[in-house]
Amino acid sequence: PMRNPAIPLPAHIYPNRRNSAGVDLADPLVCEDLQARLEQLAGAQWGDDGEPVRSPQDGSLVGRAQTASPDEIDSALTQARAAQPAWDALGGIERAAMLDRAADLFEAHTAEFISLCQREAGKTLADSVLELREAVDFLRYYACEARMLFAAPQPLPGPTGEENLLRLHGRGVFATIAPWNFPLAIFIGMASAAMAAGNTVIAKPAEQTPLIARLAVKLCHQAGIPADVLQLAIGDGRVGAALTSDPRISGVAFTGSTVTAQAINRAMAAREGPIGRLIAETGGQNAMIVDSSALPEQVTRDVMSSAFQSAGQRCSALRVLYLQEDVADTMLAMIRGAFEALVIGDPAQLATDVGPVIDAEARQALDVHVEAMRTAGFAMWQRDLPPQTAQGHFVPPTIIEVGSITDVGEEHFGPVLHIARFPSGGLEQVIADINATGFGLTLALHSRIEAARKLVENKARVGNIYVNRNQIGAVVGSQPFGGEGLSGTGPKAGGPHYITAFATERVTCVDT
Ligand code: GLU
Repeated sequence: PMRNPAIPLPAHIYPNRRNSAGVDLADPLVCEDLQARLEQLAGAQWGDDGEPVRSPQDGSLVGRAQTASPDEIDSALTQARAAQPAWDALGGIERAAMLDRAADLFEAHTAEFISLCQREAGKTLADSVLELREAVDFLRYYACEARMLFAAPQPLPGPTGEENLLRLHGRGVFATIAPWNFPLAIFIGMASAAMAAGNTVIAKPAEQTPLIARLAVKLCHQAGIPADVLQLAIGDGRVGAALTSDPRISGVAFTGSTVTAQAINRAMAAREGPIGRLIAETGGQNAMIVDSSALPEQVTRDVMSSAFQSAGQRCSALRVLYLQEDVADTMLAMIRGAFEALVIGDPAQLATDVGPVIDAEARQALDVHVEAMRTAGFAMWQRDLPPQTAQGHFVPPTIIEVGSITDVGEEHFGPVLHIARFPSGGLEQVIADINATGFGLTLALHSRIEAARKLVENKARVGNIYVNRNQIGAVVGSQPFGGEGLSGTGPKAGGPHYITAFATERVTCVDT
């Protein structure tokens, strides 16, 4: 009863499109092969010039990357503008072919990407595999969209005998500003959507993860995308600010913190000339609600992955678990059992569940939060860090019991789970408290009660609702991802409305 009856898929969902199969880590031969390649790559240095990039796992040097100078940014903008009309005129079919070729090249460099995900971003093997799959899926999905929407004009009714044609075109130059937590998937997702729609792109990776982005851009160029259509701008917030404040940028796609998105919005508003478009995917204060009809084993599994996979560094991650009072102690005992079994350590080891957080600043912010909660008297459980994590930026996985979501404060981007209890009949109040945070990204419900699902669907102002499963790992084309309110502008990445946000519409009307 919790599922809707099968609804037929509309034609534009591309029945022939398939998501990438990724790497089957359950197959011992495949896994052994990959591990051998990863061992060969373990000492590789990715680039000799520029700022050192160090692994969050142990501080070792992964490579070097050159920061873009103001002059380089200026000439990148000039080139991007000059290249845009021809790229737009190329049409959706040609552009899609290049994106598809890029997807194939990404898959052919599986080991390199996985190695970089682990070393540069501290991702576990399983997370790295998923990251590459998502990147490939974005490329192929937006290629489908380009073919469907940007290949031919769409005829519209002409009631007086006139011909009406609607065409979609690129808006100009897009700056895409990516986060470090999906240094490949979201980096290439935003850039490929912008390119598919006929824009040229200046892509800025997070300052912590330039190397994986550099490999991605190199392969896109090998796939035929011209160098002035996709340009890389490595650097910190100053590079981002130089791009977003420049009137030659027609739009910005950003994924990161709400505060930075607000700053970008102000910078874009302060510019002379045409009004730019901002597509922002920002933070969350995501909850999971578990009532007394939920299955405890399933809840335990889904709490663990939602809160602690990727060391909690997903904007979709679970931050506040609401347990119905009458089952809370039983659930908590099981959750604590699984929590004590989490393997913390080297992301290169297959068994590792929780790797490092991205850098010292992230670790300090999380440590400060946990200490403040301890001082305030909240009960908590914390894992000890194994000695081999001493050289890295590790945060001990922590569970904190709170009264409600309002005790949690801002978003805490790491392996820290807050748990609150709610009385039977209190679901509506819980949803109201969640809505009152202003964030609206993911929400999970564990319940077998149809009315509970209906209440959540009708009242919760969040972008992605998950029922009886975990709340991370949105799949391209199946769970388009993105939030509302403080969590972002929409439209959703990997969904049918995303690419049109990067476009402008033109209509020709011909009278006879
Ligand atoms: N799409 C990812 C997920 O569903 C989260 C993206 C993010 O953290 O920005 O888990």
